[in-house]
Amino acid sequence: MTENNKHCSFCGEQQTPDIPLIAGIEGHICEECVRLAAQVVASWGRRRSTTKPFENMLKPTQLKEQLDRYVVDQGLAKETLAVAVYNHYKRLSMEYNNTQVPTSNDQEVEIEKSNILLLGPSGTGKTLLASTLARVVGVPFVIADATTLTQAGYVGEDVESIIVRLLDSADGNRELAEWGIIYIDEIDKLARSGESTHGTRDVSGEGVQQALLKLVEGTRVKLSQKGRKESGEELFIDTRNILFIAGGAFAGLERLLEKRMNTGKGGIGFHVDLSDTSKAYDQLRLFEEVQPEDLRHFGLIPEFIGRFPVITALHDLDEQALVKILTQPRNALQRQYQRLFEFEGVKLEFTEDALTAIARQALERGTGARGLRGVMEGLLRKVMYEMPSIDGAKACLIDEKHVSQEIAVTISCDEESKQHQIG
Ligand code: ADP
Repeated sequence: MTENNKHCSFCGEQQTPDIPLIAGIEGHICEECVRLAAQVVASWGRRRSTTKPFENMLKPTQLKEQLDRYVVDQGLAKETLAVAVYNHYKRLSMEYNNTQVPTSNDQEVEIEKSNILLLGPSGTGKTLLASTLARVVGVPFVIADATTLTQAGYVGEDVESIIVRLLDSADGNRELAEWGIIYIDEIDKLARSGESTHGTRDVSGEGVQQALLKLVEGTRVKLSQKGRKESGEELFIDTRNILFIAGGAFAGLERLLEKRMNTGKGGIGFHVDLSDTSKAYDQLRLFEEVQPEDLRHFGLIPEFIGRFPVITALHDLDEQALVKILTQPRNALQRQYQRLFEFEGVKLEFTEDALTAIARQALERGTGARGLRGVMEGLLRKVMYEMPSIDGAKACLIDEKHVSQEIAVTISCDEESKQHQIG
């Protein structure tokens, strides 16, 4: 083979200036074939790792410890999720290994799936908890937005496409996809108009609840999308063992709860005084009291509620929690921005007061921890715009006064005395 006449030993592609080849002892390989081979090898790895699934399953306390590394507060939700997920995968591993729980009267016990309903205001960590769990357990995970879901045949995402995405996140491994986790966000938006409002029925919301119900109960979804299987064979995914986590803010549910608890209906037996405690505390207390009946009044259909036997609540985050979110998780915002500045050789630091002021501003936005990024961006946008053009930029210290915009941010440079004022 002459220098100019090299071919990929796998696909035969000829070497050109645009198509470089990697040389081996006896042959060559092109970039495309390297990629393809990597995909194939990755799927071997997956298959090997799932031959004995959940062998080293983390215990609930260990699961919570892992969640603690990424999610601040929300202890009750973390514990509930850890137990539910542990039981779910324990059940699957028993089914997989064909073992049964021994019982005193020698009867088989069928453990039902424990799908989870997460209630809590926006930006308090519902999606973060679900996605962190999936990562910790090592199963495929997808997020579906209930508001974009439609009954099959209408414009929008239908339930089949969620399953296709789950299969994609399992790198095409059907077995792994069937043990995955699906998080359905904004589930409260599917509620038909509850009893508290004008009483008109939102049939489409109820229709989607019905469509989701089938998926959650367990059905074989036929994937019709082209390219699913090279052989042209039909591919089915069984959703029986997929764990569903549904999340929603359920705004307005507090009112229903207050009504029930104040009138003593439902046998709670105590009265929550809403006048003298903070909103965060009330929300927590109230949402912890949610009974399936309340969700029915809110507008979820009873069959749907019945499929989510584990209900847990996340609470509003206060200033202290937001400061922790800024600084503590492994990919905390403070660390992310410090890393970005490091690329420019600049050491970014925040005073304690600055962090508290950022948290306070985010709190005012009323979008939970989601507001933090917006505040940070607003604060540092101009700095990040000018910084790469400043010669010898070295350090940037953010103080409370910078957050409140009383004074402009400055960047100190190599020469001790030189300060560059932003803006
Ligand atoms: P939602 O409750 O609306 O699903 P998310 O989980 O999507 O909220 O949170 C939005 C963002 O806010 C997350 O990406 C994360 O960075 C941050 N966040 C929210 N809650 C927490 C928390 N408890 N701990 C750490 N970060 C959080």
